[in-house]
Amino acid sequence: MRQSQAFIPTLREVPADAEVKSHQLLLRAGFIRQSTSGVYTFLPLGQRVLQKVEAIIREEMNRIGAMELLMPALQPAELWQQSGRWYSYGPELMRLKDRHERDFALGPTHEEMITAIVRDEVKTYKRLPLVLYQIQTKFRDEKRPRFGLLRGREFIMKDAYSFHTSKESLDETYNNMYEAYANIFRRCGLNFRAVIADSGAIGGKDTHEFMVLSDIGEDTIAYSDASDYAANIEMAPVVATYEKRNEPPAELKKVATPGQKTIAEVASYLQVASEHCIKSLLFHVDGRYVLVLVRGDHEANEVKVKNVLDATVVRLATPEETRQVMNAPVGSLGPIGVKEEVKVIADHAIAAIVNGVCGANEEGYHYTGVNPGRDFPVSQYADLRFVQEGDPAPDGKGTIRFARGIEVGHVFKLGTKYSEAMNAVYLDENGQAQTMIMGCYGIGVSRLVAAIAEQFADEHGLVWPVSVAPFHVHLLTANAKSDEQRALAEEWYDKLGQAGFDVLYDDRPERAGVKFADSDLIGIPLRVTVGKRAGEGVVEVKVRKTGESFDVPVADLIETVRRLLQG
Ligand code: ATP
Ligand code: MG
Repeated sequence: MRQSQAFIPTLREVPADAEVKSHQLLLRAGFIRQSTSGVYTFLPLGQRVLQKVEAIIREEMNRIGAMELLMPALQPAELWQQSGRWYSYGPELMRLKDRHERDFALGPTHEEMITAIVRDEVKTYKRLPLVLYQIQTKFRDEKRPRFGLLRGREFIMKDAYSFHTSKESLDETYNNMYEAYANIFRRCGLNFRAVIADSGAIGGKDTHEFMVLSDIGEDTIAYSDASDYAANIEMAPVVATYEKRNEPPAELKKVATPGQKTIAEVASYLQVASEHCIKSLLFHVDGRYVLVLVRGDHEANEVKVKNVLDATVVRLATPEETRQVMNAPVGSLGPIGVKEEVKVIADHAIAAIVNGVCGANEEGYHYTGVNPGRDFPVSQYADLRFVQEGDPAPDGKGTIRFARGIEVGHVFKLGTKYSEAMNAVYLDENGQAQTMIMGCYGIGVSRLVAAIAEQFADEHGLVWPVSVAPFHVHLLTANAKSDEQRALAEEWYDKLGQAGFDVLYDDRPERAGVKFADSDLIGIPLRVTVGKRAGEGVVEVKVRKTGESFDVPVADLIETVRRLLQG
């Protein structure tokens, strides 16, 4: 493509509202433009990268026998009412009405739609398993759209769904998907980790997230420094054991702690270590209240609380609810003398506390000499806290370290959540009706483009991996006024194209400095400059990633380009 005729609006200035590198560079280099918050146009260069990423995804999906289809974004509310998510999805679901006042949603995901299709068309075990996927536009009215393509309100997702007659069949497809996802992210050149995840609102049990490692990631990954173990911090189990301190039990005393609310304040006021304090948090759990106890130097993990109680919706109680239920403000809560209807559960570390400190359920007072069991009952001890760096890794190898990650993919074993709610059944070998077992598998395709840009950039601009680069070669002349240079460039523009390379030819009448800066910004893997040595038939080839450059006789150009693109 000739740059003089292309639509590549580059910017010299960093756009003010773009906080992260990938967002800034994709805007500056002319890959995307924002239309409104969280909604973007893919300009021609962005569209080319998107298409390359999509081609990799299609190849890997087709390889494992998944079949592509395309479902509508506009979905009737009835489908969402059948699954119940019309009521539970919340404000992220974009809802609208048609001219007849009928309710619709713009699909944030397609479990309902695909389950309805397969339910209506597949009646016998002979047609299962079935694995279907699409690459399609999703809508989510995110609370905080940000970082450009990384968290949009309209974005492109590859979503796949599988239907099975047995758990074993689901396991097989899940493993195939897992491998296909690893291949996709590897082929995009990414440094990523597959981590054990929480299944969240979508339901189901077994699930992994694929995380691209990046400091700007919103998720924290807990990984072992000595093995492959990696989990979302929400899920990483704590395997630490705790020793009781060697001290005779003291008398329980109520002491005044005027104005001291946080653990740090109370610990410093009473001159005790925060690990001897008990942090008490009131949670609202599926309509009941539960008091959760963790050690003062630990953080309670809501996902673990949810899983331990086998609950659906867990949140911290509001200050008003807390006053009502505990008769005390949030900063003074404690487990002593709690009403019977409030269940008390505690992290394992609490069992080892000797002569600890806790709130007295009375403003401005705490207890000292607190001994769990003796002074209050605990209905269940469990792993309820977040892991911390330095904890032993759950697989017994090494210690836990933290890294940040951008979630680019997610694989779930859904089980029968949707098939049951929407009555997706088939007849088995004995003519008995059985509920289909399902899996679902998503890749944030547009987010993936930004994640690649985030990992592959330097101070001059983007540095695309060959597999997803918008073009392979950026060809340009150093002196736009030189007929000799232009003639050689024109000749090799044709020849490189005929050899099968995607070439962007900067034929604009610009100064060399402008062209070089734009070229570095756009980040095409190889730059071929036709310059001073054009008369001898020699050009310069520069590798964007390493900055190395070579003078190459044009007779060797195609071979050199081929070799450098492979290496
Ligand atoms: P997140 O925790 O980032 O909100 P999610 O758990 O809501 O993600 P899924 O419902 O599993 O995401 O969607 C599948 C994939 O779609 C995610 O792994 C992610 O890559 C992508 N994705 C989700 N939300 C967005 C968004 N707002 N913008 C771009 N991509 C997204
Ligand atoms: Mg989300």
